[in-house]
Amino acid sequence: MAVRVIKEKCKGCTICVKNCPFNAITMVGKIALIGETCTGCGACVEKCPFKAIEQEKETKAPSNTADYKGVWVFAEQRNNKIMPVVIELLGEGKKLAKEIGCELAAVLCGENVKNLTDELISYGADKVYVADQSELKTYRTDAYTKVIVEAIKKYKPEVMLLGATHIGRDLGPCIAVQCGTGLTADCTGLRIDPETKGLQQTRPAFGGNLMATIICPNHRPQMSTVRPGVMSKAEYNPSLKGEVVNINTGFKDGDIRTTVLEMIQKAGETVSLTDAEVIVSGGMGLGGPEGFELLKKLAAKMGGTIGSSRAAVDAGWIDHAYQVGQTGTTVKPKIYFACGISGAIQHAAGMQHSDYIVAINTNENAPIFEIADYGIVGDLYTVIPALLEALDTIQEEV
Ligand code: FAD
Ligand code: SF4
Ligand code: SF4
Repeated sequence: MAVRVIKEKCKGCTICVKNCPFNAITMVGKIALIGETCTGCGACVEKCPFKAIEQEKETKAPSNTADYKGVWVFAEQRNNKIMPVVIELLGEGKKLAKEIGCELAAVLCGENVKNLTDELISYGADKVYVADQSELKTYRTDAYTKVIVEAIKKYKPEVMLLGATHIGRDLGPCIAVQCGTGLTADCTGLRIDPETKGLQQTRPAFGGNLMATIICPNHRPQMSTVRPGVMSKAEYNPSLKGEVVNINTGFKDGDIRTTVLEMIQKAGETVSLTDAEVIVSGGMGLGGPEGFELLKKLAAKMGGTIGSSRAAVDAGWIDHAYQVGQTGTTVKPKIYFACGISGAIQHAAGMQHSDYIVAINTNENAPIFEIADYGIVGDLYTVIPALLEALDTIQEEV
């Protein structure tokens, strides 16, 4: 939505400059000028005391929202394995579908993937739309987008959820653009407005300092990507029944602009933070990369894995794959140890839903203690060896 300054009314007070969250306004002489980084958020329109900024109303016709029914989940699979986030989305999608009073469907793309439809139904999908064809063997943006956009145009779902994985983050926006709708990326909460039955999509905004709830009232489907590990998994029930609908698409030359020449597995450690039941995370309080060796000992004893804060990753002490938080992985283990981690909001965003949080920190006022179930004020290099010793004693007694 275009925003413009009415030059004749502008008094040069600079209030708008200070209030633009995107630094998009500069003063040219005594007149405010709106630059290219303007996102159309509208904040300046309300702030101008002289009504010198106006915003054009959206002229695009809204879609006929009443024609759209049902909640869809993109059933991302890799190497014929359903991604864990899909099970979480089916759990959340079921709740949303119940509140709206509609059915839950999964959309499955790939080659030789029909065997996965039973699994999706057992996790709660009332229907599975399946495109099983050679062009979809490996993920390619054009191919998956075409299949899913055609299906959306034909079957008209009101909500479409994708995991915020590398594929989901690539695919979601392409589908949204072609369907002429919006997309809220990286959601951490979803609910249905009881009055409008619209989807309320919550996600961290402004560096995680506030949570924004976003709606998409005029266009369908309402689309969200959801971070893995945030929602609870659907329960598996093999007695559930569902319908399978074939949505194969014809491709012509030029429809798919990329060719996969080779798949190269990333070298190095693979970390499965989202599946871990115990995570022992370390931050700047470790004092250096060698501190993770001590955390590994505790993790091994507890049958878990190690994690880290972003500051430790930025310091080059550990690979980004271990990072927990807003720009890392969201985790929900049974026990989360935060060792030498201050508990910044961006870290908390990725671990605060753990069943039990144990914080070890020398600073009794560290914010991590506000969300910890058990807080130990002390030096981690004293506390963790004592914990290891205590665990050894317990194991010997057992
Ligand atoms: P610090 O904040 O430096 O804390 C170190 C803690 O260790 C202190 O509380 C100190 O008291 C304690 N300590 C020191 N010595 C010891 C000792 N011997 N024993 C015990 N305790 C000790 N951060 C993330 O973690 N994940 C993210 O995904 C993430 N995303 C971000 C996204 C954005 C847009 C921004 C702006 C920031 C993000 N951050 C993220 C960074 C975040 O704001 C913090 O800077 C970071 O989490 C701090 O890491 P830390 O707790 O390890 O370090
Ligand atoms: Fe001009 Fe209004 Fe901005 Fe003041 S707040 S500089 S009057 S546009
Ligand atoms: Fe800045 Fe928002 Fe105004 Fe654009 S609409 S100039 S981003 S305050």
